[in-house]
Amino acid sequence: MVTDRNGADAGERLFNFSPGPAVLPLGVLEEIRRDMLCLPGVGSSILEISHRSPAFDAILDETRTALARLLDVPDTHEILFLQGGANLQFSMIPMNLLRGRDEPADYVVTGTWGAGAAKQAALEGKVATAWDGKSTNYDHLPSQDELALSPQAAYVHLTSNETIQGVQFKEMPDTGDRPLVCDASSDFLSRPINVSKMGLLYACAQKNAGIAGVTVVIIRKDLLERSAKSLPAMLSYREHAEKDSRANTPPVFAIYVLGLVCRWIRDTFGDLEQLAAHNARKAALLYDELDASNGFYSGHAAPACRSDMNVTFRMPTEALDDAFIAEAAEQGLVDLRGHRSVGGIRASIYNAMPLEGVEKLRDFMTAFRQARSGSTEAAGGSS
Ligand SMILES: *Cc1c(COP(=O)(O)O)cnc(C)c1O
Repeated sequence: MVTDRNGADAGERLFNFSPGPAVLPLGVLEEIRRDMLCLPGVGSSILEISHRSPAFDAILDETRTALARLLDVPDTHEILFLQGGANLQFSMIPMNLLRGRDEPADYVVTGTWGAGAAKQAALEGKVATAWDGKSTNYDHLPSQDELALSPQAAYVHLTSNETIQGVQFKEMPDTGDRPLVCDASSDFLSRPINVSKMGLLYACAQKNAGIAGVTVVIIRKDLLERSAKSLPAMLSYREHAEKDSRANTPPVFAIYVLGLVCRWIRDTFGDLEQLAAHNARKAALLYDELDASNGFYSGHAAPACRSDMNVTFRMPTEALDDAFIAEAAEQGLVDLRGHRSVGGIRASIYNAMPLEGVEKLRDFMTAFRQARSGSTEAAGGSS
């Protein structure tokens, strides 16, 4: 018997453009529901087993192996599963890699998240700004020769995709011998990334890779030596590596979901190259509509820096932005309001947003523009 409280089905799902936590693949949700009461062959659910049980050993192992395969993680790097979100990494990175050193850490500040990371690092040690896009509200990214890198920087930190502004590095800058530290929270697993070039790559899972609760840190093993013995154990990369990400109870359920998402990527797309091409096709549908709109929609990001994950734009008036958001919601296209620091619209179209959802949004954008542009009366009256 299906009751109305637990009988909601996939047909009632809206197209959810939330910036995070964000849409998950339907197949993953179905698998979670199917195995919710009992993992096959285990006799208990994922919520009820020890983090030191053979069943969870297998899940942790599979998840790590799947990540290593998808991202081509070399043996020189260690994969850690931590908690505290990307925000805790803003502090753990300088605690482990900067504290007590004379040389500064260089921060490339390309948006809200990069600025937040630099602010926390300054509490731990010397921080130098390699570039800052604040004066143009972070609408573009630096070229290689605009970066002012310190000769002996402890590391260089950047944000591969600024979730709020919608700017994304297409290629990672060259930082020479300085370890590159990358916040990939909002484009993790959305495209290939050369991990062998990274000192440390980190990402919370709730944008592209699963649910809130687990943060993946991929660190070059020699950098583990920098973790001072005096650090609290839970804040030390070295300690987490030595304890195989089980210094305490890890976020068991979040790691399980991350493993399912990795498997979904492999089964659906094969590899990250294919997934990146799919993501680029989705983003192009929306950017083509911006470019064809004669300025009715204006993108926040400079075209060369446009994100394939978060598409940010606005209309000539805030009243139009509000009308757009309200009318889109009536058509089942939800959570499109831009962050208050940028305004306008933000469509987050992570891995799990189906092509169909993006097409529906594109069609809505075309219809909305045709109905409103050229008519100042309509533009002024959003009610
Ligand atoms: C969401 C996000 C964060 C913050 O993640 P939390 O898990 O909430 O700490 C940091 N950086 C980027 C790029 C993000 O998109």
